[in-house]
Amino acid sequence: MSEKITFAPISYTGWGSLEHLEEEVKRFNAKKILLVTDPFLEELGLTNNIVVPLEQAGIEVDTYTEVVPEPPLAIGEKVVAYTREHQFDLVIGLGGGSALDLTKIAGVLATHEGKVEDYLNLTGTKKIQSKGIPTILVPTTSGTGSEITNISVLSLETTKDVIAHDYLLADVAIVDPALTISLPSKITAATGVDALTHAVEAYISKFASPISDALALQAIRLISKSIRTAVKNGTDKQARSDMSYGSYLAGLAFFNAGVAGVHALAYPIGGQFHIAHGDSNAVLLPYVMGYIRQSCEKRMKDIYEAMGFSATNLSQTEASYKCVIELKRLVEDVNIPSTLKGFNITEDALEGLTNDAIEQKRILARSPLPLLKEDIYEIYKSAFNGVIIEKQK
Ligand code: NAD
Repeated sequence: MSEKITFAPISYTGWGSLEHLEEEVKRFNAKKILLVTDPFLEELGLTNNIVVPLEQAGIEVDTYTEVVPEPPLAIGEKVVAYTREHQFDLVIGLGGGSALDLTKIAGVLATHEGKVEDYLNLTGTKKIQSKGIPTILVPTTSGTGSEITNISVLSLETTKDVIAHDYLLADVAIVDPALTISLPSKITAATGVDALTHAVEAYISKFASPISDALALQAIRLISKSIRTAVKNGTDKQARSDMSYGSYLAGLAFFNAGVAGVHALAYPIGGQFHIAHGDSNAVLLPYVMGYIRQSCEKRMKDIYEAMGFSATNLSQTEASYKCVIELKRLVEDVNIPSTLKGFNITEDALEGLTNDAIEQKRILARSPLPLLKEDIYEIYKSAFNGVIIEKQK
């Protein structure tokens, strides 16, 4: 069987790796740069890590701070219009997935015609044709893996959609855990479980390969070992480093193997209730995995072991049950509500969520258990009630 593996051209990881920024910028001979970030990061002073050294080197940096979390389409249209209006040689993204996703769209669509909307996966009519302006992506959360994936996610009225093309891959990713020290505990938890979900879903994906498996299992090891510490004590250097590298590996894994049911069901929750992407994934993770458990018992045993538990005396079935329980425990330990009720979602919303989730065909196709409309409703109901159920044979 042939296997296609795609990685972003250059990545730097590890504490202090941002020191490579200037040499990379010079490689592109960039004289005028757009820095896409969110206003909070500018207020925190994180943008100084980029702006000060580059301006000292005589490079012009225009800081664009109109990024909002879970960016709606209109914000995408705005940043692309701004990038088209000015002549930039390079776009740098600094922030969480929201800033990085907008950077990718800005870089590519600056050299295309039409609206951002025209390029959406579900409803778009235009195709991306060329690479656009080079991009350097610098994450400040340990979660989305956006710095090494080829997609940008945008919020629509009741759901989310992506723009996806290999031209959206960053030219350079710089994954420096030092930039995550200021992340508040609640965002550390949500983004950390997002990364864990990427690794878990990549590992059980129908499109998993030996390489994505290796990346996913190592990501699960690092994140499971360190997420609780990173949430409790954000200044713990080792925990932040593990989370940063873990989310990077999880990103590489899911970029190649894809994500599945958890994400397909999480998108409508994010779209309809404006709940952070990490939280929407976290609240569904144990229930989706419980529901599909029988279709991937062996793989769930591996996940259980990668989470740091011994399965020596357990059958595959026993270990897979325990895996679901430990995933639920992890979500609860980092203080994320583990039911939809906990996010003030009412039972009458479940049908609308189901109608939107079933449209995520590209993502659902990777689930080892085919998820029909009635399955999706059952999973939402189990997440609403907080009771793990499984598909009846
Ligand atoms: P985010 O970018 O929305 O940021 C969340 C909050 O954290 C913001 O208020 C931000 O200011 C703050 N923040 C970020 N870094 C900080 C730091 N170091 N210190 C203090 N505060 C900080 O959150 P996210 O979870 O990283 O990104 C979510 C977005 O990414 C969603 O739109 C989601 O759909 C998308 N996403 C994209 C991909 C992809 O591959 N492109 C994958 C998963 C999710």
